[in-house]
Amino acid sequence: EKGRLLFAGPVTFVKGVVAMAGLPPPDRVEVCFAGRSNVGKSSLINALTGRKTLARASNTPGRTQEINYFALGEDRYLVDLPGYGYAEAPVAVVAKWQALLKQYLAGRVTLRRAFVLIDMRHGIKAVDHEILKLLDRSAVTFQVVLTKADKVNKATREATIAQVQGALAAHPAAYPEIVVTSSEKGEGVETLRAIIATLE
Ligand code: GDP
Repeated sequence: EKGRLLFAGPVTFVKGVVAMAGLPPPDRVEVCFAGRSNVGKSSLINALTGRKTLARASNTPGRTQEINYFALGEDRYLVDLPGYGYAEAPVAVVAKWQALLKQYLAGRVTLRRAFVLIDMRHGIKAVDHEILKLLDRSAVTFQVVLTKADKVNKATREATIAQVQGALAAHPAAYPEIVVTSSEKGEGVETLRAIIATLE
């Protein structure tokens, strides 16, 4: 894929945001990526954007939790939300992050879709349900992206897809189609890229 134009223009880092006041002007379509820490979010964003080092791999617990903005060409943003579910994260950090996340999801008018990443080996866990409920309440359409598909056999793959499909029925904000991906093998990356590129 080297040299191919993946989006309408180059992919660039815009800024890290720690408060609503820091958000760039809402002047273009944006999508966000959420998921438990270690779900493979950085790897997938790097695969999607065709870059090796755009999204930093696994943020350290307790580090300042930033919302990272990337420009996909000139007409859309990709927003990398901090990974959730760190067992060791300080309570104050978690609380601050949750407050910012709520404000962001409820107040960002140009946010078109949230991609919630779920590890194919684990399926939806309790901590994921919290964010799905928040997305329902914020009326932000979300789409589940299963990660690390290369790590499971066919039976696990089918079982996880069935578990997720069953769980989505309870979520009014869920987009029904699940995207299965492997950053390692490239599976689903083009599909996801096409979804992002065509959202209006
Ligand atoms: P993040 O914390 O969600 O940003 O997760 P990372 O992208 O840092 O990935 C966490 C770990 O999973 C790393 O060791 C990655 O190499 C690995 N990983 C991520 N995506 C895949 C994948 O598609 N297949 C395999 N086999 N490993 C992956």
